Amino acid sequence: MSSLRATQPRATQSSPTHSSEEELLDHYPEFSRLLIARLNQLIPLQNQARANLDEQVMTSPGDDADISVMDTSADYFLRLANDNQQEILAVREGLERIQKKTYGICDSCENPIAIERLRRLPTARLCIECQTAAERSTAVAFPGARPKL
Ligand SMILES: [Zn+2]
Repeated sequence: MSSLRATQPRATQSSPTHSSEEELLDHYPEFSRLLIARLNQLIPLQNQARANLDEQVMTSPGDDADISVMDTSADYFLRLANDNQQEILAVREGLERIQKKTYGICDSCENPIAIERLRRLPTARLCIECQTAAERSTAVAFPGARPKL
Protein backbone atom coordinates (compact mmCIF):
# COMPACT_ATOMS: atom_id res chain seq x y z
CA MET A 1 0.00 0.00 0.00
CA SER A 2 1.47 3.29 -1.09
CA SER A 3 0.67 6.72 0.19
CA LEU A 4 1.33 9.96 -1.58
CA ARG A 5 3.50 12.28 0.36
CA ALA A 6 1.94 15.71 0.83
CA THR A 7 3.71 18.29 -1.30
CA GLN A 8 5.73 20.65 0.79
CA PRO A 9 4.67 24.27 0.61
CA ARG A 10 7.35 26.21 -1.19
CA ALA A 11 9.42 28.35 1.16
CA THR A 12 9.10 31.98 0.17
CA GLN A 13 10.90 33.80 2.96
CA SER A 14 13.90 35.83 1.83
CA SER A 15 17.24 35.61 3.60
CA PRO A 16 18.31 38.62 5.67
CA THR A 17 21.52 39.20 3.70
CA HIS A 18 20.25 38.71 0.15
CA SER A 19 17.19 40.12 -1.55
CA SER A 20 15.42 38.44 -4.40
CA GLU A 21 15.86 39.99 -7.83
CA GLU A 22 12.15 40.84 -8.04
CA GLU A 23 12.39 42.60 -4.69
CA LEU A 24 15.38 44.52 -5.99
CA LEU A 25 13.53 45.59 -9.15
CA ASP A 26 10.61 46.76 -7.00
CA HIS A 27 13.04 49.11 -5.23
CA TYR A 28 14.61 50.57 -8.39
CA PRO A 29 12.48 53.76 -8.28
CA GLU A 30 13.58 54.32 -4.66
CA PHE A 31 17.29 53.80 -5.46
CA SER A 32 17.00 55.93 -8.55
CA ARG A 33 15.67 58.76 -6.34
CA LEU A 34 18.47 58.20 -3.80
CA LEU A 35 21.14 58.33 -6.51
CA ILE A 36 19.70 61.46 -8.14
CA ALA A 37 19.44 63.17 -4.74
CA ARG A 38 23.10 62.32 -4.07
CA LEU A 39 24.10 63.66 -7.48
CA ASN A 40 22.25 66.91 -6.75
CA GLN A 41 24.28 67.24 -3.54
CA LEU A 42 27.59 66.43 -5.23
CA ILE A 43 27.38 68.66 -8.30
CA PRO A 44 27.26 72.01 -6.41
CA LEU A 45 30.17 70.77 -4.24
CA GLN A 46 32.07 69.87 -7.38
CA ASN A 47 31.42 73.28 -8.95
CA GLN A 48 32.53 74.93 -5.73
CA ALA A 49 35.71 72.84 -5.61
CA ARG A 50 36.45 73.74 -9.24
CA ALA A 51 35.81 77.43 -8.60
CA ASN A 52 38.21 77.34 -5.65
CA LEU A 53 40.78 75.57 -7.79
CA ASP A 54 40.44 78.12 -10.60
CA GLU A 55 40.83 80.92 -8.08
CA GLN A 56 44.03 79.30 -6.81
CA VAL A 57 45.41 79.02 -10.33
CA MET A 58 44.29 82.51 -11.39
CA THR A 59 45.72 84.27 -8.36
CA SER A 60 49.25 85.29 -9.22
CA PRO A 61 51.71 84.50 -6.44
CA GLY A 62 53.13 87.47 -4.52
CA ASP A 63 56.46 86.77 -2.87
CA ASP A 64 58.11 83.38 -2.38
CA ALA A 65 56.49 82.79 1.02
CA ASP A 66 53.01 82.84 -0.55
CA ILE A 67 53.79 80.10 -3.07
CA SER A 68 54.00 77.28 -0.53
CA VAL A 69 50.70 78.31 1.04
CA MET A 70 49.07 78.47 -2.37
CA ASP A 71 50.39 75.04 -3.36
CA THR A 72 49.03 73.44 -0.22
CA SER A 73 45.51 74.77 -0.66
CA ALA A 74 45.48 74.04 -4.41
CA ASP A 75 46.44 70.49 -3.49
CA TYR A 76 43.62 70.32 -0.97
CA PHE A 77 41.01 71.59 -3.42
CA LEU A 78 42.34 69.26 -6.09
CA ARG A 79 41.96 66.27 -3.77
CA LEU A 80 38.48 67.43 -2.78
CA ALA A 81 37.54 67.78 -6.46
CA ASN A 82 38.92 64.31 -7.21
CA ASP A 83 37.04 62.65 -4.34
CA ASN A 84 33.86 64.33 -5.49
CA GLN A 85 34.49 63.34 -9.08
CA GLN A 86 34.96 59.70 -8.04
CA GLU A 87 31.65 59.68 -6.21
CA ILE A 88 29.84 61.47 -9.05
CA LEU A 89 31.11 58.76 -11.42
CA ALA A 90 29.97 56.00 -9.04
CA VAL A 91 26.50 57.58 -8.73
CA ARG A 92 26.19 58.02 -12.54
CA GLU A 93 27.26 54.39 -12.97
CA GLY A 94 24.57 53.35 -10.49
CA LEU A 95 21.93 55.19 -12.55
CA GLU A 96 23.18 53.50 -15.73
CA ARG A 97 23.01 50.14 -14.00
CA ILE A 98 19.39 50.85 -13.05
CA GLN A 99 18.64 51.44 -16.76
CA LYS A 100 20.38 48.18 -17.69
CA LYS A 101 18.67 46.40 -14.77
CA THR A 102 22.01 45.28 -13.36
CA TYR A 103 21.88 47.66 -10.40
CA GLY A 104 22.16 45.99 -6.99
CA ILE A 105 23.70 42.81 -8.38
CA CYS A 106 27.01 41.92 -6.69
CA ASP A 107 29.98 42.32 -9.05
CA SER A 108 31.65 39.31 -7.51
CA CYS A 109 29.04 36.60 -6.73
CA GLU A 110 26.20 38.02 -8.90
CA ASN A 111 23.64 37.66 -6.12
CA PRO A 112 21.29 40.56 -5.38
CA ILE A 113 22.68 42.92 -2.72
CA ALA A 114 20.52 43.41 0.42
CA ILE A 115 18.06 46.33 0.11
CA GLU A 116 19.17 47.70 3.50
CA ARG A 117 22.81 47.80 2.37
CA LEU A 118 21.87 49.67 -0.82
CA ARG A 119 19.80 52.15 1.19
CA ARG A 120 22.84 52.95 3.33
CA LEU A 121 25.30 52.84 0.42
CA PRO A 122 23.50 53.30 -2.93
CA THR A 123 26.82 53.05 -4.83
CA ALA A 124 27.68 49.61 -3.33
CA ARG A 125 28.73 47.12 -5.99
CA LEU A 126 29.52 44.17 -3.74
CA CYS A 127 27.23 42.30 -1.37
CA ILE A 128 28.19 42.36 2.30
CA GLU A 129 29.80 38.87 2.14
CA CYS A 130 32.02 39.75 -0.84
CA GLN A 131 32.84 43.16 0.68
CA THR A 132 33.89 41.50 3.94
CA ALA A 133 35.95 38.91 2.03
CA ALA A 134 37.62 41.69 0.00
CA GLU A 135 38.45 43.60 3.18
CA ARG A 136 39.84 40.46 4.78
CA SER A 137 42.11 39.76 1.80
CA THR A 138 43.30 43.41 1.94
CA ALA A 139 44.18 42.85 5.60
CA VAL A 140 46.17 39.76 4.58
CA ALA A 141 47.92 41.70 1.80
CA PHE A 142 48.86 44.46 4.27
CA PRO A 143 49.57 42.67 7.56
CA GLY A 144 50.99 45.90 9.00
CA ALA A 145 47.47 47.35 9.03
CA ARG A 146 46.39 44.72 11.55
CA PRO A 147 46.77 45.45 15.25
CA LYS A 148 49.53 43.29 16.76
CA LEU A 149 48.73 41.13 19.77
ZN1 LIG B 1 28.72 38.98 -3.52
